[in-house]
Amino acid sequence: MSGVSEHFVLEEIAEGVHAAVATPRGFALCNSGIVDLGGSSLVFDAMLTPQAGTALGRAAERLTGSPVGLLVNSHYHGDHVRGSAAVGAAHVVSTRRVRELVLERGPLHLRSDRQEAQGELERLRAAAASMPPDDLAVYEGWFGGILATAPDLAFRAPDLTFESELVVHGRRRSARLLTFGGGHSPSDVLVHLPEERIVFLGDLLSVGFHPSLGDGNPEEFARILGEVERLRGERTLPGHGPVSDAAAVREMARYLALLRRSAAEACARGVPREELVRQPPPEPFGSWKLSTIYRDNVGFLYDREAARSAGAASGRPGT
Ligand SMILES: [Zn+2]
Repeated sequence: MSGVSEHFVLEEIAEGVHAAVATPRGFALCNSGIVDLGGSSLVFDAMLTPQAGTALGRAAERLTGSPVGLLVNSHYHGDHVRGSAAVGAAHVVSTRRVRELVLERGPLHLRSDRQEAQGELERLRAAAASMPPDDLAVYEGWFGGILATAPDLAFRAPDLTFESELVVHGRRRSARLLTFGGGHSPSDVLVHLPEERIVFLGDLLSVGFHPSLGDGNPEEFARILGEVERLRGERTLPGHGPVSDAAAVREMARYLALLRRSAAEACARGVPREELVRQPPPEPFGSWKLSTIYRDNVGFLYDREAARSAGAASGRPGT
C-alpha cells in the first residue's frame, strides 16, 4: 500500500498488520506499527511530533476501520512519545518505569532539545560533506520536527502499566506486550504477534542506523537481544530503518559486541578517548546513518570501561 503522509510510508507486513516507516525528511523519525485486533486496533509508538502522531492515528483508523484502542510506548524517548496525545488512543500502555520517565523527563528533554536544535542543525549542515549520504535528510526531519513542536506540548503518559507481560485478546488476533528490562533505555517494551511471527522492537533494533546506546545498559542490551531471538520472529520492525527479519537482530547483537570489544581494547592499550571517537565506524557498519550517534556510542562505552578499570585498580567493586 502506498504512503499517505509526508512523515511515513505504510507497508503491510501481514494481513491486518502494518508498519509506518519514517521518511527521511518527515517529522516521524521513528517507525510505528499498526495492528488490527478485530473491533479495535493497537498502535506501537507515536513518533516524534503531534503532526506525525495525528497522521498515524488517522492511518490506523482507516486501515483497520476501528478506533485506536491501545497505544504502546516502547520507551520514553521523545521521538517515540511526543505524538502520543495526537494519536487519539483510548489508552496508552507501557511499563510503570516508562510512565515515570515520560512524566519526569518528557517536558525537560523537549525544552533542552528545542534550545539546541537550531544550532545543532547548522553544525550538521556545515559537516554534511563528511557524512554518509542521506544522513542530513534524517537530521533535517529530526531537528525540523523538534522546532515544529510547541514548547508547551501536553505529554500523554501511559495510563495503563504492566510489569513483565500483558496479552491483549482481540476478535481477530492477540498481541503480547513484553518487557525484558532496559537495554537501549531504562525500560524497553516490545510487541510480539505469535501467530504472525512478527515483533515490533522499538529501539531494541536499528537497521541501517546507528542505535543510541548512551541512555541504556550495554550488557543488559545484549542479554535482551538474546531473549528477542528466542521469540523466533520472522519479521521484525526496528525503531529506525526498514522492516527486516531475524538476521537483523543478530546483526544488532554483533554491532553491540564489536563496539564493546573495541572500546575495551582501546582502554586496555591506553588509546586516548579522542582517538577512538575519531575513527570511522567499523565495517559492515560504515554506511549506517547518524554517524554522530556512533561517536557518542564509542565514547560512552570507553568511559564505562575506564570507570571499571579505575574501580578495579582502587579495589572498589565494579558497577
Ligand atoms: Zn530511543
